[in-house]
Amino acid sequence: MDSAKRSRVEAWLQYGNDLGLGPYFVARTESAVSSAHASAPNPSTSMNMAPAAKSSAKSVAAAAGSVATPPTAKAGPALPIISVPPGPTLFEAAERVPNETLEDIRADLGECTRCRLHKARTKIVFGIGNPKAELVFVGEGPGHDEDIQGEPFVGRAGKLLTQMIEAMSLRREDVYICNVVKCRPPENRLPDKDEIAVCSPFLLRQLAAIQPKVICCLGACSAQTLLATNQGISRFRGEWFDFRGSKLIATYHPAYLLRNPPAKSEVWKDLQKVMAVLGLQPKKR
Ligand code: URA
Repeated sequence: MDSAKRSRVEAWLQYGNDLGLGPYFVARTESAVSSAHASAPNPSTSMNMAPAAKSSAKSVAAAAGSVATPPTAKAGPALPIISVPPGPTLFEAAERVPNETLEDIRADLGECTRCRLHKARTKIVFGIGNPKAELVFVGEGPGHDEDIQGEPFVGRAGKLLTQMIEAMSLRREDVYICNVVKCRPPENRLPDKDEIAVCSPFLLRQLAAIQPKVICCLGACSAQTLLATNQGISRFRGEWFDFRGSKLIATYHPAYLLRNPPAKSEVWKDLQKVMAVLGLQPKKR
């Protein structure tokens, strides 16, 4: 196929992926079908995003903007699978300003009323920390304390996160901390799909502005959002993924650790992997 035609096809595939049609594209190779089956979405979650096609290099096709393979494709004649270049989706690209700063993004967010979450919020919780952080933690959404103070992770789960950061021999000010949604979901419910769809472009822009070495997703919501998957987090926690030039790892949410303290050892293993990448030594006691 000539390159102009190929670019047009890739743009159409990306457009379909932007519209959430990824799962309906049929990959016509036996291996693609079996790997797609292996990553079939978990119907118990409410999100219906493209399943992450995990490669042996642990990169997530959907996260990189590639077209995901369908969970139920029938094998047909072998055709090449076209990989779409990584990067922002067409929709994100339309909103994105090159070289924008966190302040620019905050200004663009304004006193946001883009989704229903604004109705009950006290303060927008944009994010806090080092704008040049090598490590970004991404949570789900503000809780009660965060909503009052306008700062992420300041409640009980936040105190645990601070301890985790300090155990890595870092301070809160060294890292950047933010969430998938910037306003508190009522009663701390999970953010809805449409709320995530409206708010997550701001998260993506924050990550693009910071360009951290490592993104650590805290809990399923942020991991599933950034990796565009609805697989359960325990399937892929502790594994490395490529995310638009950063390395991404998902671990359990500190709020989960408050309910399940034995899982702390799993999280510590994940954080040690992050420390190895960042060249950090554990804090001496
Ligand atoms: N839980 C989150 O996911 N984010 C916060 O900011 C606080 C609690």
